[in-house]
Amino acid sequence: MECLFCKIVNKEEPATLVYEDERFVVFKDIHPKAPFHVLIVPRKHIASVAELGEQDKELIAEMIFVAKHIAEEQKFPGYKLQFNVGRQGGQIVDHLHLHLLGYPL
Ligand code: AMP
Ligand code: ZN
Repeated sequence: MECLFCKIVNKEEPATLVYEDERFVVFKDIHPKAPFHVLIVPRKHIASVAELGEQDKELIAEMIFVAKHIAEEQKFPGYKLQFNVGRQGGQIVDHLHLHLLGYPL
C-alpha cells in the first residue's frame, strides 16, 4: 500500500499545498507546532534520512533551498528546519520530509 505522503504527492489525499515543482510538494502540517508549519516532501519515496544514498545528495540540498525560498517568501526573520529520523527520533511518517517552522515578528 502507498504511504500517506505518496498519496498527498499524487493528489489522492487532500492537503493544503503552498508550493510544488517537479521534485517537491510542500503542504501545511495538519497539527502545526509553530505559527507557520509546512512539510517539504520529495515526490520520490525515500523512507527517511537514514535511507538516503549517495545519489540523493542533490535532492537533499535542493530540499533545503526550497525551504529557504518559502521562508524568504514569507519574510520570516527566523525559522527552524527539522528532520525527525526513526521512531526514537520522533518520526511518524516514513516518507522523507523536512519541517519548516516559521516565526513571524
Ligand atoms: P514526523 O513526526 O517528522 O514523521 O512528522 C510527520 C508530520 O506529518 C507531523 O507533524 C504530522 O502532524 C503531519 N501529518 C500527518 N498527517 C498529515 C496529513 N494528512 N496532512 C498534513 N500533515 C500531516
Ligand atoms: Zn511515500
